[in-house]
Amino acid sequence: MGSEGIWTAGPTDEAEGGRALLRTVSRAAEQSEGDAGAAETVFVVCRWCGAQEFEVVARECFCYGCCLPLGVSDGWEDGFPGQHPWRLESSYTPLPPSTPGPRILPEEVCRCPQGHGVFETAISFTLTDDQRIRSLSVGLRCPDDGYLHLYIDNARTVPVDRPHAPRS
Ligand SMILES: [Zn+2]
Ligand SMILES: [Zn+2]
Repeated sequence: MGSEGIWTAGPTDEAEGGRALLRTVSRAAEQSEGDAGAAETVFVVCRWCGAQEFEVVARECFCYGCCLPLGVSDGWEDGFPGQHPWRLESSYTPLPPSTPGPRILPEEVCRCPQGHGVFETAISFTLTDDQRIRSLSVGLRCPDDGYLHLYIDNARTVPVDRPHAPRS
């Protein structure tokens, strides 16, 4: 399976599947954040267009409705308002592949075992005392067949200088 990671079969029913997705992500956060504050787990809804499905490429989730990125990989985009720019650092599970540069490699595109590439997404995160995201997990559910996948397993966010030029 290599870099495709582990997928588990899940309920195809939407409500049940959604709950299974939340469990998948929150369990990851619980397991390795023993002493930290409680993790919060939420479904991801695009704040621009309200879509709830995402394409997942090279550690980033792109809204299927409007194509805007969530900011998982660098904390920059507007999906996480008020956060510092960051880079992700793996905890005990390696991060998904992401090669520097503008080209997207086939192995960086996340697909379920049946080859679908659009997912319901949930994140689990813990916050620092000043409400910055400290650690982040991303879980995916294929709405077509219910497959579940923990895409990012408790990565830590490491503050960095802004990765992009400021926009006006
Ligand atoms: Zn959108
Ligand atoms: Zn699928």
